[in-house]
Amino acid sequence: MLEERSEGYREILQAMYGRAGGAKVVGVTGPPGAGKSTLVDRMARGLRARDQKVAILAVDPSSPFTGGALLGDRVRMQGAYDDPAVFIRSMATRGAMGGLARATRDVVDLFDGAGFDWILVETVGVGQDETDVVRTVDVVVLVTVPGLGDEIQAIKAGIMEIADIFVVNKSDRDGADRAVSHLESAIAMVEGKAPKIPILQTVAVRNEGVEELLETLEKIHVDLTISGGLEERRFQNLRIRVEELLKERFLNAACDNIDLEAELRRAFKDREDPYAVSDRLFAGVVAEVSSTSQRSEV
Ligand code: GDP
Repeated sequence: MLEERSEGYREILQAMYGRAGGAKVVGVTGPPGAGKSTLVDRMARGLRARDQKVAILAVDPSSPFTGGALLGDRVRMQGAYDDPAVFIRSMATRGAMGGLARATRDVVDLFDGAGFDWILVETVGVGQDETDVVRTVDVVVLVTVPGLGDEIQAIKAGIMEIADIFVVNKSDRDGADRAVSHLESAIAMVEGKAPKIPILQTVAVRNEGVEELLETLEKIHVDLTISGGLEERRFQNLRIRVEELLKERFLNAACDNIDLEAELRRAFKDREDPYAVSDRLFAGVVAEVSSTSQRSEV
């Protein structure tokens, strides 16, 4: 219901939002094939061993990069857990009304309110949608693999600045040390990123390094709680969500109240500049909306 915004979704969100806030929300991101699903799976098992309830949210933007493969894997994966305290949900662009990032955040609130201790949000580190998702989790884990020097540079622009932990997975492969030093120099180039971001090595298929990753996550969470950083991140999360809803509402109001397409065609023909167009349309929408609400009050 939350994904599709079907009848009743607002009541659900309202009820769950009030109970949410107890879960640790971790984003796990990185290029396709880096081993995110494997790692998330191992993390979930490690958390279960600590008697923690875990929700996994696999966000698949249905992009040409993944071809939706992630979703299929995930659907099969639920069967791997004969454990009601692990819940897996895949999310795709298709069916997510108002955008994938919006839907993901709402579902995170649902899991949080439902009492999961950890919510692992797995995304492919490409594209705006996922960057948006990752901006609203508590802690971000960026997964890379040896031999990805150039790709790391490419990822850097979007995700690097907001990563809290770097993981070099597939550290059983040649070049793991080089990958670590690549990351160290890349981090050094991102200014103002202090304290030093941990770089961990894992071999997810052999469950190596996963305990250390979980311990690091727990520590970061404690540190962020004490410093007030967590609260600030969650406040920014609210800000992003409300701003997006406002934009959406404004655009919807524009479509409902004025003939946006015709207005834009006309502006294009007259070579009216974008600021002038938006000034005029904004004023028009506000006038329409306020006269409509006055009429309905009468
Ligand atoms: P994702 O696309 O990032 O979710 O990657 P997957 O978890 O699907 O893993 C891609 C492939 O890498 C699979 O065949 C995994 O078995 C393999 N893989 C995952 N972790 C490791 C690792 O630590 N070492 C090696 N050698 N292979 C791994």
